Amino acid sequence: MYLSQLFIPITKDLPAEAKIKSHQLMLQTGMIRQSSAGIYSWLPLGFKVMKKIEQIVREEQNSIGAQEMLMPTIQSAEIWKESGRYDDYGEEMLRIKDRQGRDMLYGPTNEELITDIFRSSVKSYKSLPQILYHIQWKFRDEIRPRFGVMRCKEFFMKDAYSFDLTDDEAKKSYNKMFFSYLKTFNRLGLKAIPMAADTGPIGGDLSHEFIILAETGESQIFADKRIFEINLDKYDFSDASLSKMRKDFTEIYAATDEKFDEKKFNSEVDKKNQIKTKGIEVGHIFYFGDKYSKPMNCLIDDKSGKKISVKMGSYGIGVSRLVGAAIEANYNNGIMKWPRPISPFDTVIIPSFNKNNQENLQKAEKIYQELKKQNIDVLLDDVDENMSNKFKKHDLIGIPFQIIIGSKSEENKFEFKELNSESEMLSLEEIKSKLKR
Ligand code: ATP
Ligand code: MG
Repeated sequence: MYLSQLFIPITKDLPAEAKIKSHQLMLQTGMIRQSSAGIYSWLPLGFKVMKKIEQIVREEQNSIGAQEMLMPTIQSAEIWKESGRYDDYGEEMLRIKDRQGRDMLYGPTNEELITDIFRSSVKSYKSLPQILYHIQWKFRDEIRPRFGVMRCKEFFMKDAYSFDLTDDEAKKSYNKMFFSYLKTFNRLGLKAIPMAADTGPIGGDLSHEFIILAETGESQIFADKRIFEINLDKYDFSDASLSKMRKDFTEIYAATDEKFDEKKFNSEVDKKNQIKTKGIEVGHIFYFGDKYSKPMNCLIDDKSGKKISVKMGSYGIGVSRLVGAAIEANYNNGIMKWPRPISPFDTVIIPSFNKNNQENLQKAEKIYQELKKQNIDVLLDDVDENMSNKFKKHDLIGIPFQIIIGSKSEENKFEFKELNSESEMLSLEEIKSKLKR
């Protein structure tokens, strides 16, 4: 892609309400544009990052056998009346009427709809267990949308739902999902800590939030640093290994302010290991048994032919929030550096040139074609402006690798720089192999 052709409306004037870095940076680099309070359009640069995050989330869901589907954004109020949440959900639910006057709503979550689908399709224990998920827009009429994509009204979420015959089986599904969340956030280059959580309006008795550390987060968190030392590679998908994994993670102290116990924290965690900071919730998992299946009559024949309510859990990841969260976690000293797997481009070529001397631009063009042949997603900064402005701009766009074609380049060696590190002179072959790694 040529920067001159990319639709990337960089802005300098920031609205006063853009208080945190991710919000500012996403507006500055033209990743998003607000269309009304808490509602955003995703422009090409931001959309590309979000799609990369979505794909990693999808792969890790598929790897535990969860099956992707797609439910609509607009739901009928009927099923919410059955579960009892139509009245409970309150003003966060956007309620609408269709032309026949039927009550509809824009889905804030999908427990009811998936239960409705399941009860009409599955009747026997033989079809269990199942995990279904979709990645779809949600709407919650937040009273105070803020922080850009972190807390908005319309947001993109992965939500999964598990169906099991017994509590014990359901906990195995829960553990699988727990593990897949840790792997997902690792792949995104983020360190997320699972923390026991209140179950809130979704209800139930077992719940964890996955929180990444960031000064600008909304939750106060208290944790033991050693949680970051646990190596995920030592676990596999056997039930025994998964339950050991959950035990290992939940034995180490980690709590949000809602569940914080100062005495326990100080007695269990050495001063030098104490983390007291803020965090951003990027995922939330719940086990709630028959909270929906019971009122909605989602019944399964067990082995003896007895009808029992299916046991369910639900599992969310804030895909659009993660774009902002990744910025909060990786922005440092005026420089944004995307983790490689979610960077909008693999590398950027920055040639120094002007109207009268285009030699470097031509060299850059050759390298660009070579890298494209290797399936490396490369951006060529072919905009005629001085190098210091270019560098400032790329510090914000945050592509982790730069190939600089300027005074230092030699016949066959080019300046290759990873953001935040010293540059080195490399041949094109060496650059290719670094980028392919
Ligand atoms: P929060 O506590 O932040 O309000 P929640 O507990 O209501 O979130 P869940 O129902 O658990 O959210 O939703 C799953 C995930 O969706 C959250 O972990 C979060 O990452 C994301 N999410 C929830 N609400 C919003 C929002 N208003 N804007 C962006 N992402 C959101
Ligand atoms: Mg939550």
